[in-house]
Amino acid sequence: MGFIEAVYTIGKEFSSKTDEITDYLAIPVRTDGSKEIRIYLKVSNYSTLKLQSEKENTIIPLKIEGVSKIDEADFFADSKDEQYKKLRYLYKEPPGSNTDWRYSPVLRISKPKSTREKNREVLLNGSKSYISKIEKMIQDFEDLGFFEKGSVQKIINDLSNNDFVDRFLECYSDPKASYLIVFGIEDDGQFLYPGEVKLFQQYFLKKLNEELNKKNVSKKGGVCDYCGKESDILLNFDMIFPFATFDKVNFLPAINKNFSNKVYKYCKDCFKTFSNAKTYIDYNFVDQSIINNIQIWIIPEFFTTDTNILDDAFNDLKNYFWSDQYTKEKDLLDYITDPDYDVDKPYTAVFHFLFLEQNQAQLVIHQMIEDVPLTRIQKLHQIWEETVQLLAKKKDTQLSAALKHIYRTLRHLVLKEDSEEKVMRTLTMEIIGKILSGERVETKTIKQNFVARIPKLMNDKVQNDYFHLTLNDFLLLIEFLNNYNKSWRYSL
Ligand SMILES: [Zn+2]
Repeated sequence: MGFIEAVYTIGKEFSSKTDEITDYLAIPVRTDGSKEIRIYLKVSNYSTLKLQSEKENTIIPLKIEGVSKIDEADFFADSKDEQYKKLRYLYKEPPGSNTDWRYSPVLRISKPKSTREKNREVLLNGSKSYISKIEKMIQDFEDLGFFEKGSVQKIINDLSNNDFVDRFLECYSDPKASYLIVFGIEDDGQFLYPGEVKLFQQYFLKKLNEELNKKNVSKKGGVCDYCGKESDILLNFDMIFPFATFDKVNFLPAINKNFSNKVYKYCKDCFKTFSNAKTYIDYNFVDQSIINNIQIWIIPEFFTTDTNILDDAFNDLKNYFWSDQYTKEKDLLDYITDPDYDVDKPYTAVFHFLFLEQNQAQLVIHQMIEDVPLTRIQKLHQIWEETVQLLAKKKDTQLSAALKHIYRTLRHLVLKEDSEEKVMRTLTMEIIGKILSGERVETKTIKQNFVARIPKLMNDKVQNDYFHLTLNDFLLLIEFLNNYNKSWRYSL
């Protein structure tokens, strides 16, 4: 019971039943409209490589003669199937932001800038240019004997050639789209993706094993703290959750400095399951639309002794994620509070909430609220719906709208200072944390805070114009919180 159990179950329920490596993989881009720039490698010995049997594991280095073609494709054009996409790109986040190599020849790049000239700069100039990143990335393939010596130089020479630079810039031109650079092999004019080439799979596994060995915390092996099995490789939780560091004594059992072994260690099999869970969480269970710069993880946990019922509970969610609603028209919170979702379910559901902030390379954890019953979440929705129907008929009655309303209202009280925005964000998280935990929310201080700001708000040129809206929003917020307190029989 609790967050870690819930995460593990997600890893298991969403794991691939057919392929060993899928669970380690992630999808390189998330948003619809993402594009890829495909770089076709001319490989003179590819026909020999194709003849290699499935089982044979010798590495035959690719003899790369250069680049034959560059084109562009929509990432989601052919399929949205997650397993298919994972296996096709063999993508996994590199272990750190300064890592030069990648698990497969796929590079995520920023959105294009407004002019072709600026994009040419980003592509060609300096040690952080894409061409320099590409060179470092493919050098590792050559150094480890996956490309024949001299291949990198040939690829870079071709890519620096004016025709290819122009072609690249033609493809890299939509400032709204996220882009990937994908290297593949040209086979009879067709583009073979990394996942379709055995050598790239071998490279992926080699890098993965190296990484696991490097991160191994026990030279002699030992028992996995999660599943209890003996294992020669044991790993730390910060490989999955970057915020699971020693200073977070409350986040995970045994990550307390005073414990002799300091860490919660788990085995390679559990790593695989947790990695898979993390990918699914990132992809499906994170809401970024409620509070600016804050990721809210919403992790389900179902209680039943019947594994078929458990599978059904997850299948419901899978269908939701893969249906059209997955275009994010309906937030996860709204899905689970929709009356249709909860028709006599034969299980008990609770949800775990985490509030995280990406702060440069760090992922900071602000709050963690475990074991929130679905019934409580539904009750919140009901309270919001009733409040809106009485006070603001035009407002959205969904639960996500309630949480957005809390943030937006408090955000409007900010006059200029950056630090104030942070204060309001923290206050929003505190309020949401309380209503999820079923604790009383003190509205008096929120009101005092507002009253103290009225003169400033009215004197502010911009704010003054919509002061009446700010006031209405604020009254709706207070009414919602009062109704919430009442429903839990808390005194106002
Ligand atoms: Zn284990």
